[in-house]
Amino acid sequence: MSIETIVLKPDDGLTKATDLLLSGDCVALPTETVYGLAADASNEKAVRKVFEAKGRPLDHPLIVHIPGADHIKRWAIDVPELAYKLAEQFWPGPLTLLLSKSPDVSSVVTGGLDTIALRVPEHPLFLDILRQADLGLAAPSANRYKKLSPTTANQVFKGMQGRIKAVLDGGPCEFGLESTIVDLTSAAPTVLRAGPITRAMLESAAGITIEQPESHKVAVPGNVAAHYQPGTRLREYKTQDLASNDAPSCCYLFYSEEAGDLLRKAEVDPSRCLKVSDDCVEYGKTLYSALHKLDEGGYDEIRIEATPRSERWAAINDRLRRAQGD
Ligand code: AMP
Ligand code: MG
Repeated sequence: MSIETIVLKPDDGLTKATDLLLSGDCVALPTETVYGLAADASNEKAVRKVFEAKGRPLDHPLIVHIPGADHIKRWAIDVPELAYKLAEQFWPGPLTLLLSKSPDVSSVVTGGLDTIALRVPEHPLFLDILRQADLGLAAPSANRYKKLSPTTANQVFKGMQGRIKAVLDGGPCEFGLESTIVDLTSAAPTVLRAGPITRAMLESAAGITIEQPESHKVAVPGNVAAHYQPGTRLREYKTQDLASNDAPSCCYLFYSEEAGDLLRKAEVDPSRCLKVSDDCVEYGKTLYSALHKLDEGGYDEIRIEATPRSERWAAINDRLRRAQGD
């Protein structure tokens, strides 16, 4: 597989990206979560190209991005009122709703399942394309299967060069973590994947209790434990243990002053240390970029300072757990 991959700029690239999508090609687009590899969700051939470019197994379902809540019924049946309530509050935005698939929709996009995941993205470029094309776009993260999600066009280009027609450069992603997924097909609404919209936000908008299992059984292919991984081995350490047993083949990702002091005291070369914010929203924005950067350093191990186990950090803790492949 080798095709020339072009980088499109927003001003003149929007029309080109829309044309490519309408003619059945896949194009990487910026979203507010991570870059997505988009294809016309109603075109089976186009959707298959996404699976092929990513090397993603065909039974791993894709999220379908739609222009607005008024499009839900094109894709889903038996839609509960709660879906509209949540959509009104959080769309466009980083919330994906899992609903029952309409029989008119090809199950290629849902990996053979009779459920469908829908979201209205907030990124203005992605929304413009959806509205202009009046399409649903399947758009999983624009990376090879199991690898780190990209949050810049350059990361997409490095990972997918030669495998996709184009990437539209819309700058760095606002949230930097994949969307929250809520299952509305089960008896009790359940968070399937933690993300920028927290359970507390959902509960306060919905006025009901939402389940969020501590760790997920593999309910669907694609929700696997080892996912979102850098090439370098990643291990989490408690703050006080982070700087013990330093070796030149290790690098560090930390957020607390205490960890910074310990690394300095242990005389760890600052070029092997990367500090990120201690605020979970800011941390989430830069996590993948930081991991991409450390991954490129050629180290044997990325040591991560263990993050707080509170619910506000749920999305980050989930991604770090998967990045370690536990
Ligand atoms: P992403 O790779 O970020 O596009 O996320 C796709 C993930 O959404 C999948 O790996 C599943 O965990 C979830 N998902 C998408 N569609 C469905 C579906 N029909 N049923 C259950 N989970 C889904
Ligand atoms: Mg992904």
